[in-house]
Amino acid sequence: MDHSANAPGLLEGSNIGSQKERVVTEEEWLQKWEVGNIGFHKEQGHPLLQKYLDVLLNGKSGLRIFFPLCGKAVEMKWLADMGHNVVGVEVSEQALKDFFSEHSLPYCEEPVPEISGGKMFQSTSGNISLYCCSIYDLSSSIVGKFDGVWDRGALVAVNPCDRQRYASLMINLMEKNSSYLLVTVSYDPNKHKGPPFYVPESEIKSLFGSCCEIQCLEKVDDFSEKHKQWGLDYFLEVLYMLKFVA
Ligand code: SAH
Repeated sequence: MDHSANAPGLLEGSNIGSQKERVVTEEEWLQKWEVGNIGFHKEQGHPLLQKYLDVLLNGKSGLRIFFPLCGKAVEMKWLADMGHNVVGVEVSEQALKDFFSEHSLPYCEEPVPEISGGKMFQSTSGNISLYCCSIYDLSSSIVGKFDGVWDRGALVAVNPCDRQRYASLMINLMEKNSSYLLVTVSYDPNKHKGPPFYVPESEIKSLFGSCCEIQCLEKVDDFSEKHKQWGLDYFLEVLYMLKFVA
């Protein structure tokens, strides 16, 4: 039997199949957190951030780093411990409270006047500010602009019909010359409905190409038992560096 057609990367195309119409509601995300269906969370943090930290930070200190759709990502703690200012956004209050309690970080909670029902959880030390609201409620007048972004499990979790809106917002939140590390996933979208959703390289170019230089830094084979159970026969993580030039 010829396995070459299944080799990682060879099936990559720009067709996202029926995923185009798929919508996961905020309530469904909250439900996932409630029942602990959070297989996307990485206890140990992400090896690609560890590996490419210098590319993101470029030797600078005291940067403002944004974590869209942050969940309880432990990488927020890493960057805060290095002296950077971390801002995240997440619809699940439980995720944010878990983040602080799992790292034994004291925090305070305050309303965000510009956002109806919005709250901000801030570490007492002041360098981690996590907004509990939909990312689409944010704007640079509320959260300011950022020097760096770690986007893992974020663009790939956004409903495909909202990608343009998400990218426009991210572009608005970025300082000139800022760096955006983006992790996407690649698999056969006809075999799994997502999330995470398959985001082809052609789409990254059409979403961000007008204001960013885009470089693919690495493709990593991340295929595991979980992906096998989803019915897949390959699964890659693809890391891009977006440099905001305009
Ligand atoms: N980036 C995190 C979480 C990935 S899962 C990590 O790497 O672990 C995607 C997360 O986005 C979920 O926690 C979900 O609750 C949250 N989310 C989904 N839609 C959102 C929205 N519109 N605004 C803010 N958060 C959202």
